[in-house]
Amino acid sequence: MPSLRSIVYVSSSVIPFSTSDLEDLLLKAKAFNSKHSITGALFYKDGNFIQCIEGPPAEMVLTYDRILKDKRHKGIIQLINLPIPFRAFKSWEMAFVRIGPNRSQELTNALSRTSPNATNKTHPSLVLMNSFISTL
Ligand code: FAD
Repeated sequence: MPSLRSIVYVSSSVIPFSTSDLEDLLLKAKAFNSKHSITGALFYKDGNFIQCIEGPPAEMVLTYDRILKDKRHKGIIQLINLPIPFRAFKSWEMAFVRIGPNRSQELTNALSRTSPNATNKTHPSLVLMNSFISTL
């Protein structure tokens, strides 16, 4: 089985992202991700992003480099960068969920929708995303 890694990071938008800005970003992200075997989920809430990307190690380096270079967000904090046993978001080139203010329950529900393994207590990205969301 090929090895897989996962990165989860948080960041803040520099510009207010309209729906069409987000659609444009996602279109390009998904096109790149699908060519490079990257899956994941991007949540946007009150100008803040939390994203999980997962895929083969070399492709992850390329993808994360693109993300780091994007000047539309700042304060990027990498929370994990680890080998994973299996993909948490295997059906998604990049699932996207825009959440209203103060709705951590919505985020939890969104995580369950995008990852059938959302409550898996052994998958490091899912454990992290669940615990991060519970603090919002
Ligand atoms: P261009 O589209 O020419 O972009 C080059 C640079 O110009 C960008 O880095 C950005 O700083 C700027 N730019 C691009 N469009 C606009 C715009 N409409 N308004 C203002 N500035 C702009 N990439 C992936 O491959 N996979 C991902 O999963 C992924 N997730 C991302 C998540 C977030 C929160 C952010 C902010 C970026 C993400 N990216 C991702 C990066 C982004 O999609 C690409 O960096 C960008 O689309 C580069 O595309 P391009 O090479 O075609 O260059």
